[in-house]
Amino acid sequence: MTEQSIDFEIQAREGEARTGIMTTRRGVIETPVFMPVGTAGTVKGIRFEELESPELDARIILGNTYHLWLRPGIETIRSCGGLHKFIGWERAMLTDSGGFQVWSLGALRKITEEGTEFRSHIDGAKCFLSPEISMEVQTALGAEIVMAFDECAPGEASQEEARRSMELTLRWAKRSKEAFEELQAGNLRSAGRMPPLRQALFGIVQGASHLDLRRESLERTVEVGFDGYAIGGLSVGEERPVMLEVIEEIAPRIPADKPRYLMGVGTPEDLMEAVARGVDMFDCVLPTRNGRNGQAFTSQGRLNIKNARYIYDQRPLDEACECSVCRRHSRAFMRHLYQSGEMLASILLTHHNLAFFLDTMRRVRQAIRSGQFAKFRQEYTEQLSSGLG
Ligand SMILES: [Zn+2]
Repeated sequence: MTEQSIDFEIQAREGEARTGIMTTRRGVIETPVFMPVGTAGTVKGIRFEELESPELDARIILGNTYHLWLRPGIETIRSCGGLHKFIGWERAMLTDSGGFQVWSLGALRKITEEGTEFRSHIDGAKCFLSPEISMEVQTALGAEIVMAFDECAPGEASQEEARRSMELTLRWAKRSKEAFEELQAGNLRSAGRMPPLRQALFGIVQGASHLDLRRESLERTVEVGFDGYAIGGLSVGEERPVMLEVIEEIAPRIPADKPRYLMGVGTPEDLMEAVARGVDMFDCVLPTRNGRNGQAFTSQGRLNIKNARYIYDQRPLDEACECSVCRRHSRAFMRHLYQSGEMLASILLTHHNLAFFLDTMRRVRQAIRSGQFAKFRQEYTEQLSSGLG
């Protein structure tokens, strides 16, 4: 297949950190990029107009295959013209494979060579997900970037357990690619004279916290050949230094001309450290989930709006933030909304948190471009731990 699914070009480097441009069929994405998570086809607590606004300007969001597959189901989404059309989002999307969600069901799942059997968290019905089914679902969803179906070992997995899981992930990577290529060819044929509809497929590096396994996983995943590479299975219970060690070992070894995606990570501190180690793409539920739970991420660390110290506090959530929430509302009002159970509390906290994450990445890109990233990283990290006044 010759059609390029995504085009990726590095524009500037500083140490291992890099900034680049990813061109997809639905717009241009500057990297390093943070992708807000839209589990069920919606980034919880925020309208699409806000995500598109210059203030947030999210260029790509995530959709969760597992959730969308169970509800509303693929037939609904297919008959509504694919995920973008169904949800009303014209910018780029990435769908995960469903592997991680199923993995996180824990006792409710059973893994075989063929795939994963599990019980739906909605109604307890027996379901089965495999590389082939995941590719079929993700093709129907139609995101710009599709993830290979993988298996995730726990952070503290033994060498033996991690190897078994890594080998299975490699076999599933090959099956994912084969199924994907076939589906893409079918799509291109049926599109006739329409522009090519080819999606991009990313492979996933596993191996828990064992660096030798991680290196082997990367090498063999690259042999299979993907449009980009993800580091999976981190932030699943291992210690933070272990996570950073794996990123440091693996990210710079990923072919330099391919996007490097760190899955499900992390805090603003983690983003900064991973960028410094060469990562280009991130997703995490923290800004949205924690926002709904009353937590604001600020340039001086986290702020818990439930805290009584904010009852009379006239200052915005973050005095350094220029988002529309910080320009208009005080901590006192935000606390009042939260304590009163007003849904606006979640909406405003989510907005501010996403603005903070997306603005951080904008500043990261700018810093790398001007050769100031090392300085920026140090100042940003110091300020995060300075604590709120
Ligand atoms: Zn703000």
